[in-house]
Amino acid sequence: MPMKFAFAPPPAPVLAIDGTGELFPVHRIYCIGRNYAAHAIEMGHDPEREPPFFFQKNPDSLLPSGQAFPYPPGTVDVHHEIELVVALHSGGTNIAIESAMDRVFGYGVGLDMTRRDLQGEAKKMGRPWEIGKAFEHAAPCTALRRTDAVGHPGKEGRIYLEVNGAVRQDGDLAQMIWKVPEMISYLSEYFTLQAGDLIFSGTPAGVGATVKGDQLRGVVEGIGELLTEVV
Ligand code: MN
Repeated sequence: MPMKFAFAPPPAPVLAIDGTGELFPVHRIYCIGRNYAAHAIEMGHDPEREPPFFFQKNPDSLLPSGQAFPYPPGTVDVHHEIELVVALHSGGTNIAIESAMDRVFGYGVGLDMTRRDLQGEAKKMGRPWEIGKAFEHAAPCTALRRTDAVGHPGKEGRIYLEVNGAVRQDGDLAQMIWKVPEMISYLSEYFTLQAGDLIFSGTPAGVGATVKGDQLRGVVEGIGELLTEVV
């Protein structure tokens, strides 16, 4: 007897692919912490001494650019973190740094939205970060742009975020402590990377609180522009 679902399965999480009618099916979302020295310092850490660390967001927390970001419950301190998003079209384990870029499908611009107050409590108590990082709509992201259209901009390029037209975060991809191929290689030592995985590659300095009514505009030069309104 053929098996059937007990109830309708949720729709597969996807991102649009710029300039095509195709969709990118999303498998997992990995996020690196404190990958820009100035941001590590503003969060009270020494960027020189710490190995990379990662957390995950849920693929169904993606929010397409242009849609409103609903202010989440249980918090009074929601922060924006503008980030370059790396999308993989293949994966593996123990990937060498030298071949890591072969896995990259393309890039997008994302926001690692964070309930900073809840994350702070979790940090203090030595608890996981899910409650601060993995809530609904916590991962706004643009359509992806293929590497054959934009190349590999991961080495340099301005990354910034405006709130209501004023620049709040401002940095350059060149400031990333762990570069894109290093992140892919490192992750693949601990996880089996797969086609459809996204990596949020960390945020420059200037993170801060948003309130309802804020218009957010995030840009990674050469990649794209993310727009959302906090509602
Ligand atoms: Mn982040």
